[in-house]
Amino acid sequence: MVKNDINDILAKPPMDHDITVEAWIRTKRESKGVTFLELNDGSTIKNLQVIIDENLPGYNAITKEMTTGSSVVITGKCIESPGQGQAVELRAESITLLGPASVDEYVLQKKRHSFEFLREVAHLRPRTNSFGAVARVRSALSFAIHRFFNERGFIYVHTPIITGSDCEGAGEMFQVTTLPLEQVPVRDGQVDFSQDFFGKKASLTVSGQLEGETYACALKKIYTFGPTFRAENSNTSRHLAEFWMIEPEMAFCDIHGNMDVAEEFLKYIFRYVLDNCPDDMDFFDSRISKGVVDNLRHIITSTFMRISYTEAVNRLIESKANFEFPVAWGIDLQSEHEKYLTENIFKQPVIITDYPKEIKAFYMKVNDDNKTVRAMDILVPRLGEIVGGSEREADYEKLKKRIVECGLNPDDYWWYLDLRRFGTVPHSGFGLGFERLIQFITGMQNIRDVIPFPRAVNTLEF
Ligand code: ATP
Ligand code: MN
Repeated sequence: MVKNDINDILAKPPMDHDITVEAWIRTKRESKGVTFLELNDGSTIKNLQVIIDENLPGYNAITKEMTTGSSVVITGKCIESPGQGQAVELRAESITLLGPASVDEYVLQKKRHSFEFLREVAHLRPRTNSFGAVARVRSALSFAIHRFFNERGFIYVHTPIITGSDCEGAGEMFQVTTLPLEQVPVRDGQVDFSQDFFGKKASLTVSGQLEGETYACALKKIYTFGPTFRAENSNTSRHLAEFWMIEPEMAFCDIHGNMDVAEEFLKYIFRYVLDNCPDDMDFFDSRISKGVVDNLRHIITSTFMRISYTEAVNRLIESKANFEFPVAWGIDLQSEHEKYLTENIFKQPVIITDYPKEIKAFYMKVNDDNKTVRAMDILVPRLGEIVGGSEREADYEKLKKRIVECGLNPDDYWWYLDLRRFGTVPHSGFGLGFERLIQFITGMQNIRDVIPFPRAVNTLEF
């Protein structure tokens, strides 16, 4: 007996053939002389309708056991459905209950639960339409990302998760240690990290970029795609403590080539998900966020606006809009500013370039004006920043000077500086937050609902 995924059955119904389906019961409806089940096996958002005729031996006992959430194996004939809402249905001939689910205790009885509630049952939420759809889209996106880079000759590099360097000199890293926290060894009033596991201070990576650059400066085009960690003490709908990042890095590539790749990449990904996940995308469009599909279609055919930070600031000032954080040249653009630019002023994705060097990382290439750096951030409606990238400083002396200016110690970056001492090349790259991408594509409001097990401040139940 062939076992069939519901997705395959619905896509190409084996009419009048016997099929076997393994799935969970979503709902049961009893009618005169028959019982209807809606089965879902996660292969598609769609359910398969099963009809159990009262003439099936043991009808009463069987249908009583068929509760929402139970797992079953059902064999029967695939027939044309006389009812509305589905083309085919399964007429049950044999039913095996694998695992019951108690009506009183199984929480997913009701059709709709709030996302807040479902976060508390992260082990069960993949059984809902929304989380099933997110999981399938997330998987399809991962594949599309690898495919995009693979088709273009990029090498996939696994950068380390435990790191001895702090990528941006920011203070939002999780420390990795085996030191006894009740009694940390101290020398000269400082924690003695020489007694720690690595003999020095270690952390979880906030970005694979610096290590990625070393491989780009040998293999030309590389990308990383892995988990990153930031001890963000902020409770926003766009920040997680553990999230996934895609970071391409390209040698012999300047800021313009970088923007071209980023734009092509986003459009490719959007097209892929529209072509390959139509049912899930229909669901997001009709049930989660009206217009997400049209929005993606529109972006695929548009050309991203490219403007400088200076221009963006001028446009914001001219708009006379009322912002919580006042706008002036030199400020770090806040989320409200980013959203205003992309939602109100340009009404499409915008790439902002040439930010003041004071608000950007040390490794970005300084422009001839000595005031701005070759950074590029991509802003999209609803979310603001989705991509952050730059052309890297390729000149040894200039980079060293920037490291010092930024209050960092050049000795800590000796290997990074070496890339500029031996065969240096112009190179560029960007980072795309995977969960932000999924949020944007699906219209899901909260980043905690687009990763299976969200980690955020004070959140670690699972
Ligand atoms: P933001 O200002 O939104 O915090 P950032 O400037 O810290 O972003 P980058 O350091 O440029 O972000 O990181 C690259 C990308 O990683 C961002 O564009 C974003 O998509 C994503 N990202 C950054 N921080 C987080 C986070 N805490 N959770 C999820 N995604 C994140
Ligand atoms: Mn941040």
